[in-house]
Amino acid sequence: MLDRFQRLAASLAGGEAATGPLRRQALDDLDAVVGAYAEARAALGQFDHNTLLPNRHRFLLDTARQAGERGEPTVLLVTLAEAPRYNEMLRALGHAFADDFVRAAAAIVRDIAPADCELYHVSLLSLCFVLDGHTCDTALMAATMARAFTRPVQCRGVPVVTNVGVGLAALAPGREGTGEVLRAALAAAQDSRGLSSGWSRYDRASDEAQRRAFTLLHGIPDAIASPDQLSLHFQPRVSLRSGRSSSVEALLRWRHPTLGPVAPGEFIPLVETTALISDVTAWVLEHGLSQLAAWTRQGVSPVLALNISPNNLRERGFVESLRDATDRHRIDPARIELEFTENALTTAEPQVRTAIAEIRALGMTIAIDDFGTGYSNMNYLTRLPVQILKIDQSFTRTLWQQPRQQLLVRGITEMAHALGLKVVAEGIETQEVHDLLADWGCDEGQGYLISRPLPPAEFAGWYAQNNA
Ligand code: C2E
Ligand code: MG
Ligand code: MG
Repeated sequence: MLDRFQRLAASLAGGEAATGPLRRQALDDLDAVVGAYAEARAALGQFDHNTLLPNRHRFLLDTARQAGERGEPTVLLVTLAEAPRYNEMLRALGHAFADDFVRAAAAIVRDIAPADCELYHVSLLSLCFVLDGHTCDTALMAATMARAFTRPVQCRGVPVVTNVGVGLAALAPGREGTGEVLRAALAAAQDSRGLSSGWSRYDRASDEAQRRAFTLLHGIPDAIASPDQLSLHFQPRVSLRSGRSSSVEALLRWRHPTLGPVAPGEFIPLVETTALISDVTAWVLEHGLSQLAAWTRQGVSPVLALNISPNNLRERGFVESLRDATDRHRIDPARIELEFTENALTTAEPQVRTAIAEIRALGMTIAIDDFGTGYSNMNYLTRLPVQILKIDQSFTRTLWQQPRQQLLVRGITEMAHALGLKVVAEGIETQEVHDLLADWGCDEGQGYLISRPLPPAEFAGWYAQNNA
């Protein structure tokens, strides 16, 4: 083609075609060459550079073209590895090895797929093809594919253990060319990991849960910026001997603009997997301390307990942000208690241990939340500067009917006291449980029997009346 182009260009530049009908012909020829070149360029964009298989653009064009054809088109998608594993491979063995691995795995997929099916390489680690559910046993094909990858993939003599996912999703009429089927097949492939069958068919419920999680995470920055999506409710804690309250726990509430109220038990674990937890904790700290300062001016002055995520302790500058917030709101750090779950405290990471020691040095109290739900070697209780142990509500809520749990809770209380810790029971819902815990010497309690979490103004009223 280059040759033809050069000849045409030369003849146009002054040779025999410089005038007359020959010139017209040469120009037309040149247009044709340029058109062919543009087509070739576009076609190149429809293939993966590594496997040379048609790519996602081509898949979308092909499925759009097939719209309206009969049959029951079903996409079988194979994802070769999870991103962290792939990154480990890149780091240890390099990009060229990873490219070879993808080609070796693609060859296995090609061998198993029906010979007349076009194989597409739709993302770095995903390959797919379209089966006709009328004429092909799609479940059998998916199972065969999954089984093939239970053996390591041989790459440059190295047996690479994969964690392949295999997913099936029907190409719904009218959705051809949209890519929606790829998203559904990928969701199914991800769900298949950990299933003994090794493959999975698209499941709307599991996908909807994923999408909800995604929507929630995406909504967090807006929630933080919005004046009315997030709020704090406050649940008092009382002495089981006197009934008086001297502390209160701040609990985050979120009214999502379209999903309505979302419980922290749902969104906090999601947020904790991302760096957004830093912003959420900063919001809670700022609003919690501002509320505490306002109550103090009204003569209501409890200790404020805040829930802190383990990852906050790994953040650079977290302890300074605590100091800065108490300074700005003129709050004595001794009036702040930070609750951590056991898992946060049992880590051996020096950064985390230093942060805990610095928080204690600021004068704040450290409490272990949900005690008894982690699997820990309790040695950390003797080594860390912890003052309060909150027994998880799973022990207390049903305590009345459970003699073995009663033994455990009594034992925990005695052990904590022997170590000089204060014991708080969470989730007290009945008078019977309250009285048992009080008999055993449990220091404080929190739960629906005493009060539900309250909006700030109601808490101030409750506190004044309770302690009158
Ligand atoms: P948690 O810190 O253990 O808080 C106690 C949870 O138990 C709260 O649920 C509270 O409303 C509930 N509760 C209190 N008394 C009773 C009772 O008698 N019976 C029953 N069934 N439940 C009771 P909530 O507010 O839904 O919070 C759930 C969890 O979400 C909290 O558990 C905490 O781990 C987390 N969380 C809440 N707010 C924050 C926050 O600001 N930051 C972080 N990192 N986590 C938070
Ligand atoms: Mg808590
Ligand atoms: Mg708790």
